[in-house]
Amino acid sequence: REFDIDGGEETNIHVVVRCRGRNDREVRENSGVVVSTDGVRGKNVELSMGASALSNKTYHFDKVFSPAADQSMIYDDVVTPMLDEMLRGYNCTIFAYGQTGTGKTYTMSGDMSDTLGLLSDSAGIIPRVLQSLFLRLEADEAESSVKCSFIELYNEELRDLISLDDNTKLKIYEDGQKKGHSATLVQGMEESHIKSAGDGIKLLRNGSHKRQVAATKCNDLSSRSHTVFTVTAYIKRTTETGEDFVSAGKLNLVDLAGSENIQRSGAENKRAAEAGLINKSLLTLGRVINALVERGSHIPYRESKLTRLLQDSLGGRTKTCIIATVSPAKSNLEETISTLDYAFRAK
Ligand code: ADP
Ligand code: MG
Repeated sequence: REFDIDGGEETNIHVVVRCRGRNDREVRENSGVVVSTDGVRGKNVELSMGASALSNKTYHFDKVFSPAADQSMIYDDVVTPMLDEMLRGYNCTIFAYGQTGTGKTYTMSGDMSDTLGLLSDSAGIIPRVLQSLFLRLEADEAESSVKCSFIELYNEELRDLISLDDNTKLKIYEDGQKKGHSATLVQGMEESHIKSAGDGIKLLRNGSHKRQVAATKCNDLSSRSHTVFTVTAYIKRTTETGEDFVSAGKLNLVDLAGSENIQRSGAENKRAAEAGLINKSLLTLGRVINALVERGSHIPYRESKLTRLLQDSLGGRTKTCIIATVSPAKSNLEETISTLDYAFRAK
């Protein structure tokens, strides 16, 4: 779907759903399968809500992946067009949104091993992006360079997952107006130049490990924090009139906090939000996306750290994709409905 905002610039927001297979626990507990799709890569999700098929609920999305869809299908269908756009110099964002345990991290990172440049079949979006990006840049004659950053956002505080210094507090500030769009800068954030996909995968692996270590000390961190892995490609181009310029395109790969963090206490409950029971960035992201889709005149970017951080990549001439991940089991039906409702509002 294409939307026209900001005086003719187009914003593209795509929403896809990925349903994983039942896990051991769901099988052991004999929790039935209540989610079905129209094929491995379909367009509809159907939820069995009760004994009768009449009570079933069907949702339509840009794409729907069944449990049989593997990592390479997600990459080909969802990520390849975003990489093309990034190489043309635009900013793009892919979000993984869903209940904890439904496959957000599997989808975004997956298996991060890389043996002599060979990725595993279970490698997720980030390792695959790094690999195809370098293949594409090597095939291109133009001079180029690539930078990566990797940060975590927890309780509206940013932490660098690349920097070795654990005490650096990152701060967001505005960088004036850029193409009518205000860009944000993160003070103190490490941006590493990488020379190969392997370099980037190593940053991803080390940063994920650092996050894991912190998560074992603070048990709600892993479900309540967001991670943002950003790859920026700078490519030297020449205009038709012979002038050199550098095109800079950015791809943000965001593994969001568990969606149960906004749903259990009700998205509109202000007191719960203040008590920290609701994840402010997750809630605001939903509002920003709704405002963009509905072409609202006010987009509430400034109301959370996540949306401020991604401000130059949401709205305007950008592409956004939300991958909503769900469990197929009856025991998770309520969370699945909430996830699909949130995702559907973004359509
Ligand atoms: P989340 O990040 O949403 O909390 P994870 O990505 O950690 O969830 O997934 C939970 C578990 O399920 C992990 O062990 C992961 O490997 C497995 N998993 C999730 N999605 C899939 C999938 N599509 N295929 C195979 N395993 C999956
Ligand atoms: Mg996770």
